[in-house]
Amino acid sequence: MSGQERVIPAAAMAPGIGIGTVWICREEPLGAGRAGPAGDWQAEWDRFLQARDRALEWVAALKDRLAREGHAEEAALFDAHRLLLEDSALLDPVRERLQAGCSAEQAVAAVVDELAAVFAAMDDEYFRERAADLRDVGRHLQRALTGDKAALPAEGGPWVVVARDVAPSDVAALDLRRTAGLILQEAGPLSHAVIVAKARGLPAVRVDSLREQLAAEPGWPVIVDGTAGRVIVHPDPATVAEYRRRAQAHEDRQARWRAVAAAAARTPDGQQVSVTANIAGLEEALEALAGGADGIGLFRTEFLYMNRSRLPSEDEQVDTYRRVLAAARGRPVVFRTLDFGADKPIPALETAPEPNPALGWRGIRFCMDRVDVFRAQLRALLQAAGGDPLSVMFPMVSLPEEVRRARALLEEVRRELAQEGRQVPETVRVGIMVETPAAALAVDQFAPLVDFFSLGTNDLVQYALGVDRANARVAHLYQAYHPGVLRLVAQCVERALAASRPACVCGEMAGDPRGAVFLLGLGVREFSVVPGAVGQTKELISTIAAAQAREAAQRALAAPDAAAAMAVLESYTVP
Ligand code: PEP
Ligand code: MG
Repeated sequence: MSGQERVIPAAAMAPGIGIGTVWICREEPLGAGRAGPAGDWQAEWDRFLQARDRALEWVAALKDRLAREGHAEEAALFDAHRLLLEDSALLDPVRERLQAGCSAEQAVAAVVDELAAVFAAMDDEYFRERAADLRDVGRHLQRALTGDKAALPAEGGPWVVVARDVAPSDVAALDLRRTAGLILQEAGPLSHAVIVAKARGLPAVRVDSLREQLAAEPGWPVIVDGTAGRVIVHPDPATVAEYRRRAQAHEDRQARWRAVAAAAARTPDGQQVSVTANIAGLEEALEALAGGADGIGLFRTEFLYMNRSRLPSEDEQVDTYRRVLAAARGRPVVFRTLDFGADKPIPALETAPEPNPALGWRGIRFCMDRVDVFRAQLRALLQAAGGDPLSVMFPMVSLPEEVRRARALLEEVRRELAQEGRQVPETVRVGIMVETPAAALAVDQFAPLVDFFSLGTNDLVQYALGVDRANARVAHLYQAYHPGVLRLVAQCVERALAASRPACVCGEMAGDPRGAVFLLGLGVREFSVVPGAVGQTKELISTIAAAQAREAAQRALAAPDAAAAMAVLESYTVP
């Protein structure tokens, strides 16, 4: 035993175990001090444009690399980098600064800083994270201008990269044979660096105040546990042996889940269960379907409207929807209509801020007021389906009247398209997201109006408990297994099934093994989960008979609190 072992708590960001040696990533300042040329700004502009072209090539190469590794969705993140490198919002102010006598390095540093500060000051976490993308683009430009290389491990290893902040493109560029994991100070679950790390199977954690807490030196032995959220420096030999075993178990599990995902899920007593995927765009759909999902149970179409200055046109939407349907090759695809609002702002809609957006103008409420926007989406969905059946569902429903009006509009649009001589579906399956407690308890009253229900437990939990799902200060109160929430879900499923309507679940509860056991026990036979959880969910279903799951659900419902309910359910997840 070396006796120097130190365990440092960390926030788990990307699962897995990494064992290696500390590599400290030196910080690259965005601002280089080279003075501007005297007089000829045009030559400096040419130099900048050449650097910009090299940066574009570099971004394209990273995108190719991720796509080749099978991470289509993460590869698409680099489209945003390309757009930024071609955007006049970046190019025009750079040129102005060159004309004012700056060097290209100075101009890039100043403009990127300015634009990133605008993003960083935004209220919404999503946009704040985009400041990191912009800085990443700035770094590419500086490297292309100066000829410097990224400060990443090029030989030796395996390394555990320690950095205050790391660019998504650097994570994409890391050599997986040499890199065991990442320890970052600035990273959130929505940051692209973390998304890319997850996709590439690189364990990652966040350690706040890195310098004081970790105090690591280059070359120190270290273990990153991205599953439990922990860093161990100078691990004892026994700890290393234990973590090697855990790392192997993690890899074996991943391989098993990939294999299981390809087959249909069935309980040991022969109940067929469908496990579909929740997706936000075409690339993710392709990946989920190729990975074995039984279809798409939730297409969050609002993502097509985000991160852009103009709304997507009808034709653009038709194209995306059609491609997803083609990729599904007959497997079901459920399109959720535009779920605007609350944690999903859409700047192109130019709405005024609201005092309480989670309870405000969102989902179907917004769509039935902005019929111009809604109509364009319904036209696109119906045209994309053509002569084939279409499934749509409406989000954030609280009154049957909303469903009646939305259905009437859908039928009106269908007829209008038929009159224009376009091919439209004969049958449209219509469902609603059950996200408000009132709708959950009154599903029987919605049943005559719909073909299916899909429980959005993410919002249902927030509204049932009155706890903002996106507010870290109250995160400990967001308890999906609170006895009140479990009863609400149980009553909803029971009433939906009694009314002969399928009760699917597409909230995160479906993809959590404990939640899956509970829901299976209530009679849910359609689960829609994050693409990465399809294999795990299918495997779990294959180990638990319906009667056993029923018993688990009843015991969880009788539990005195969330912790006890989770413990009961957990005991059924271990085969
Ligand atoms: C939900 O609320 O559970 C859901 C699936 O929708 P979203 O997470 O997109 O709000
Ligand atoms: Mg929701």
